Amino acid sequence: MPQVTNYMFFSDASTSACAAVSYLRVKTSDGEYRVSLLMAKTKVAPLKKITVPCLELNGALLASKVPSKVLDTLQLPSITIYCWSDSKTTLSWIRSNPGKHKQYVANRITKIQELTTIDCWRYVPTKSNPADIASRGVYPSQLHSLDLWWSGPTWLQKDEGEWPEQKFVVSDVQEGKPVSSKSKLMKLNPMIDDTGIVRLNGRLKNALLTVSERFPIILPKESKLTSLLIDQAHNATMHGGKQTTINFLRRRYWIIDCRSSVQKFIRRCLICCRHKPQPTTQILGILPTPRCTAAAPLRHSGLDYAGPYAIRTSKGRGHRSYKGWALKLFI
Ligand SMILES: [Zn+2]
Repeated sequence: MPQVTNYMFFSDASTSACAAVSYLRVKTSDGEYRVSLLMAKTKVAPLKKITVPCLELNGALLASKVPSKVLDTLQLPSITIYCWSDSKTTLSWIRSNPGKHKQYVANRITKIQELTTIDCWRYVPTKSNPADIASRGVYPSQLHSLDLWWSGPTWLQKDEGEWPEQKFVVSDVQEGKPVSSKSKLMKLNPMIDDTGIVRLNGRLKNALLTVSERFPIILPKESKLTSLLIDQAHNATMHGGKQTTINFLRRRYWIIDCRSSVQKFIRRCLICCRHKPQPTTQILGILPTPRCTAAAPLRHSGLDYAGPYAIRTSKGRGHRSYKGWALKLFI
């Protein structure tokens, strides 16, 4: 007997329309998840020009109206609901206090918060968002082959632990909530300064260093700003090596996974590549016949020496070191 597990509601918006798509996620008796399309709803974007985050918020509002309809129609026992959006701004708005926003945004946030619980809202990358297909529009001839549309993103068929990670650390920090234990920021004990910048709150609070050295700005591993800063640091250190570039950056910034980002950057630097000294290799001589012919032991013998090595007769002060050679006997 299949067991109903979750309802999924995806939302998205483009400048032409906003869309909501819902799915039923069922765990079958053999332990697999099956996801099927329940219903979809679209609405053309208003003629009045409004910003993309506001359009995305309208999409989320459309999606938040769907659960009550689906729940009433299907009359299934109470199960978990997840709502998804690919707009981080919309998600942080939904999690915020409506009073802080302008009337237009505040009204919509209030409505969404009435219709759904805040915790059910999650982030979905755009390429895995089936509502994106509806908001952009697609030809009927293409629709039948779009698996994303008919059965949702493939990760919905996996366990919850393998779903896209939630990235709301900054809003958690802003609201004074503890940072998620899964987040890479957890170890950095982040804090937000007066200007709204997330900084590392390390142990150097009392050190005689500048503020930016004591509390460097935390930056993500992959962003345009991060790569521009690495570029600047690498140039400022006259094409310095990995450690030099990192040390220069750490005076002001704490880039997550800095080492690998800097290494990746230096590896792509044309000037460094051109000037990288190539280690020379010696072409070894041809081996004499006894060295490459099988023979009885002690038939041939060879002598080689290596050195000089600095040799001391005893440890401690007052003992000079002497040159010594190592003799090698090959039999
Ligand atoms: Zn370089």
